[in-house]
Amino acid sequence: MDMTDTETPRLIVMDHPLVAHKLSILRNRETANAHPTFAALRASDMDIETPLESMTAQAMPTHYPCLVSILRAGNGLIDGFSQVCPEASVGHLGMYRDHDTMVPVSYYTSLPTDIVDRQVILGDPMLATGGSAIMAATKLREMGVSDIVFSCLVAAPEGVAAFHGAHPDIPIVTAALDRELNDKAYILPGLGDAGDRIYGTD
Ligand code: URA
Repeated sequence: MDMTDTETPRLIVMDHPLVAHKLSILRNRETANAHPTFAALRASDMDIETPLESMTAQAMPTHYPCLVSILRAGNGLIDGFSQVCPEASVGHLGMYRDHDTMVPVSYYTSLPTDIVDRQVILGDPMLATGGSAIMAATKLREMGVSDIVFSCLVAAPEGVAAFHGAHPDIPIVTAALDRELNDKAYILPGLGDAGDRIYGTD
């Protein structure tokens, strides 16, 4: 991993050939029904005995993380993550970006009742203006969730700056940091509309 900001790893850009390879497949317009898989889990220490000696090993915490998808594209990220960690609980936040104002609108909330006890992996494949991610993180914060990681596939510098302006203490894990937003707030080079790419709509 390349810790872009070495003092405080608030932005973690995955630096791995397999991640880059998978992301290139998702970016390619020829790829139909693109399903991303992503992971950003926190482990805890656990004392165990190997056949030879004691050691402190890494294990999932008693409360598994909660995966929160920002609908609808977030499901493409969270579904893959759920396959890697089926014990994780799952929540959904419905938000859409008004195409005229670019402002996010919240229309649906469904979260586990014990979410405050869990690490939350908040997922949306594209961090563009940051509006939906900020609104989702603010909602979680207001509910009392303290441990949040935002995960995405592609981030725009504008989205990273806006998100960290609103939530400086929430790390962002991304597979790529792209160049910029266009005048319709799409990420360049990006991969287009993530929801349309995943579900074959347009
Ligand atoms: N949402 C997307 O799906 N794609 C972008 O490029 C920006 C926001």
